[in-house]
Amino acid sequence: MSKVVMLCAICNVSSGNCPEDCAYCTQSAHVKADINRYKQKSIEQILKEAKMAKANKALGFCLVTSGRRLDDKKLEFICQTAKTLQKELPELLLIACNGSASYESLKELKNAGIFSYNHNLETSREYFPKICSTHSWDERFQTNLNAKRAGLELCCGGIYGLGESNEDRISFRNSLKELNPFTSPINFFIPNPALKIKEPKLSADEALEILRDSAKALPNTRIMVAGGREVILGDRQYEILENGASAIVVGDYLTTSGEAASKDIEELKKRGFEFATQCH
Ligand code: SF4
Repeated sequence: MSKVVMLCAICNVSSGNCPEDCAYCTQSAHVKADINRYKQKSIEQILKEAKMAKANKALGFCLVTSGRRLDDKKLEFICQTAKTLQKELPELLLIACNGSASYESLKELKNAGIFSYNHNLETSREYFPKICSTHSWDERFQTNLNAKRAGLELCCGGIYGLGESNEDRISFRNSLKELNPFTSPINFFIPNPALKIKEPKLSADEALEILRDSAKALPNTRIMVAGGREVILGDRQYEILENGASAIVVGDYLTTSGEAASKDIEELKKRGFEFATQCH
C-alpha cells in the first residue's frame, strides 16, 4: 500500500505589529523580535506564492493574518483573494487563519470558497492565561465553534514546549477532542531570545511522543506538523510520519524559514511517499 502525505503551505498575508501578547509569538508588538513586518501582501504576490505552493505539491494553502480578529477590512480582502485563487488554482484547498471571528464573517468566508478555518487553542484552558493576557482561551474555543457552525472544516491545534505540564497537555487534547477538528496542526516552540518564554527546546523523542499521543486522542483527525519540525527534530524529522502525523507544512513558516520544499519532496519520495491530491 502506498504511503500518502498531505502538504500544506502558509502565506503570511500580514506580518507582525500584533497588539496581542501571546508569549510564544514573535509577531506580537510586545516583543522586539527580528522578523519581517508588513501590512498586507498584494493579491498578485499571494497568487504567485499559491502557484509556487502548487508546484511544490501542496494541496492546502493557508491565508494567515496577524492580529486578534477578523475585522471587516480583512474579511473583504480574504474573500477577494479567495475568489481570485479559486479561479486560477481551483484544485488548491484554501484555509483562512485570521484570528477570532464571528459566525457571520466565517459564513462569508465559506461562501467565498474558503474550505477550512484555522484557529488554534494553542494549549490547555488552564495554562493559557500564563502565556497570554490580552484575550481568553474561551474566545478561541468560541471561534472554533463558530467556524463549525458556518460549515467550515476545522483546523485546530496548538503549540507544545511552552512550559506546560503533562496535565495541561492532556487537558488541551481533551478540548481538541470536543471540537473534533478535521486537521490538527502541531507546532513545537522554537526558543528566541526576544521572547519571554525561556524553556529549552523539546527533545526529538518528546516531540514524537506528543504526535503519537495526539493521534491517539484524535483518531479521526489529520495530524499535521507545522512550526518547529526542522529545529526540534533535525535529522529525525521524517520520523513524524511513522508517529501519528500524516501532513506537513512545506516551505517557510510565518516568521521562520522552513526546509526548502524541494528538499522535503525529494526526501519524502526517497522514503516511498506519495502526495495527497485530495484531503480524505
Ligand atoms: S499568536 Fe496571533 S494573536 Fe497572538 S501575538 Fe501572534 S499574531 Fe498576535
